Amino acid sequence: MIVNEEAVKSILEEIKPAKLVAATKYVDSDQIDALEACGCMIYGENRVQAFLKKYEEYKGKGQWHFIGTLQTNKVKYIIDKVTLIHSVNSYKLINEIEKQAAKHDLVMDVLLQVNIAHEDSKHGFDETEMDEVMASLSNKPHIHVRGLMMMAPNIDEEETRVYFRKTKALLDRLAKDYPQYELTELSMGMSNDYHIALEEGSTMVRIGRSLFKD
Ligand SMILES: *Cc1c(COP(=O)(O)O)cnc(C)c1O
Repeated sequence: MIVNEEAVKSILEEIKPAKLVAATKYVDSDQIDALEACGCMIYGENRVQAFLKKYEEYKGKGQWHFIGTLQTNKVKYIIDKVTLIHSVNSYKLINEIEKQAAKHDLVMDVLLQVNIAHEDSKHGFDETEMDEVMASLSNKPHIHVRGLMMMAPNIDEEETRVYFRKTKALLDRLAKDYPQYELTELSMGMSNDYHIALEEGSTMVRIGRSLFKD
């Protein structure tokens, strides 16, 4: 697939002031330059191997986010190459990110993934665990938690609204209870549901399909 320039430009305009994270799993490295040429400066990969290849080949000014399920043993490959990990979904992963970030003497920005609809098929912390998760971060100086990430259930677009709203309410509650972190980011919304996600407070949409064409 290749970049649909008109679509990228119009989506960038439409979602303002939210940020566009282009889900680049559908395209090769050369298309990242085409995204940059349209003004899209954040690229999100969901597989470590594909990410590393594109990261090596792309020489532009944009930044990379990791948006997919991240295996603990692969944190070391991406820790110094991405500016945000959206998909932090276990204590094991938190511990490994802290360890690898410390090794590189950097502070990693992360989002905590919440399984807001309690789906067996989805990763993420349960809402009820969040205070325990926040407590576990208090002795992790190399992790800077910036907000929450969620994936809506695969249902009718309008029915996803309740889950976006719940995630936003959870973020607001955590921001109030943990003012020492700057919890401002909400990564939610993909091609099929980003309009609703934005209406419910998303600050970052992860869009793939809608940016590309055959
Ligand atoms: C592919 C992907 C997206 C984008 O999905 P589209 O339906 O192509 O817009 C968003 N988030 C994650 C984690 C993805 O892997």
